[in-house]
Amino acid sequence: MHSSEQLFERAKQLIPGGVNSPVRAFRSVGGAPFFTRRANGAHLYTADGDDLIDFVCTWGPAIHGHNDPDIRAAIGEALNNGTSFGTPNAYEVEMAELITEFVPSIKKVRMCNSGTEATMSAIRLARGYTQRDKIIKFAGCFHGHVDSLLVKAGSGALTLGNPDSAGIPASFAAETIVVDYNNADEVRAAFEQHPDQIAAIIVEPYPANCGLILPDEGFLELLRELCTANGTVLIFDEVMTGFRLAKGGVQERVGITPDLTALGKIIGGGLPVGAFGGKAEIMDQLAPLGPVYQAGTLSGNPLAMAAGIAALKKLKSEDPYPLFEQLGSTIREALLDAAQAKGLPLQVPQVGSMFALFFAEKRVRNYGDATSSATHHFNTLFHHALKNGVYLPPSAYETCFICTAHNGRDIERAAEVLAEGILAI
Ligand SMILES: *Cc1c(COP(=O)(O)O)cnc(C)c1O
Repeated sequence: MHSSEQLFERAKQLIPGGVNSPVRAFRSVGGAPFFTRRANGAHLYTADGDDLIDFVCTWGPAIHGHNDPDIRAAIGEALNNGTSFGTPNAYEVEMAELITEFVPSIKKVRMCNSGTEATMSAIRLARGYTQRDKIIKFAGCFHGHVDSLLVKAGSGALTLGNPDSAGIPASFAAETIVVDYNNADEVRAAFEQHPDQIAAIIVEPYPANCGLILPDEGFLELLRELCTANGTVLIFDEVMTGFRLAKGGVQERVGITPDLTALGKIIGGGLPVGAFGGKAEIMDQLAPLGPVYQAGTLSGNPLAMAAGIAALKKLKSEDPYPLFEQLGSTIREALLDAAQAKGLPLQVPQVGSMFALFFAEKRVRNYGDATSSATHHFNTLFHHALKNGVYLPPSAYETCFICTAHNGRDIERAAEVLAEGILAI
């Protein structure tokens, strides 16, 4: 048996920073990360024997909680037949049928292995389809670690204080036009300055890697209109929001049809999966039908497909979305009440099972608002919560996730701990 401290010492010798994804290193909140030995329901059990109520939920995928028995059974059954075939398999077909049923804008879909692959491939496809090079992205939106999208990105890139990664040629980044989210004038100006050159707009329709930011009325509709008018492909990156905020993601909630959608996280049921899909006319540009190349040794992997299919079917049979709305607002109200009692300005954007905390006076509408919030208060709250058995994401710029397993005592207990934490700031 090894403690987190011992494991981290060993890890740091051989793994850069001791972690395989930067935000896990706790650089943003300070202190050293814990190692998890096992996870069940809404709880993580650490190498040090601690039991934590988990609001990270493996950064989104665990919508049914950890170690869900149905997902485990599906993986077990698939495992009996082997781990990978490298040929087409029936799971892929069932997955494609489920995705197109859940997300009607997706007429055809291609599976890949991560959200990063999904956005990278969607961008390439949009460029191939339009025969244009430039793309528009929004400051603070994170689309995985794709070269041309790591410009003013959110998530770990943001907390490192190093939003533009080293190692990306300036010429790649030059094809990316970065505009402020919720700034209609800037988007219009980008189209005016680069007529017939913009292949795609890629957007997290509810940006959730910079805290959680919600669109102003009409903003997403404007993106749809401008894309249609300019022959530009509208890509919704719903890697995080897909299946989480509604069966059909944000696009279902707001009634907007993107041309392409990137998916990930929940569709893997906890195994590594991504997918992108959309209009058949665009998707048919992919090899082997069309000139846009995209491939993957383990794409459509039977274990990952089986896990994802089980996760999606369970969303269909349980319809947890009304429950999430209720659990989310319970937490939100507890946080706001505590902040008011303390006299601290706090914003808690929350939609269903997603919420974030910004210690700020006004509603956060964009990256600039988010980064000017008082993140040191979040960091204090993070450590109070962790000491008292509640695990928030280790960065003020990540979104907190609720899963179905939080139902009942866990939400009450977490609301209590977080309220105490705010009063103690
Ligand atoms: C997590 C995330 C990605 C990247 O997915 P990975 O599987 O980590 O590569 C892309 N876009 C959004 C919106 C995400 O939240």
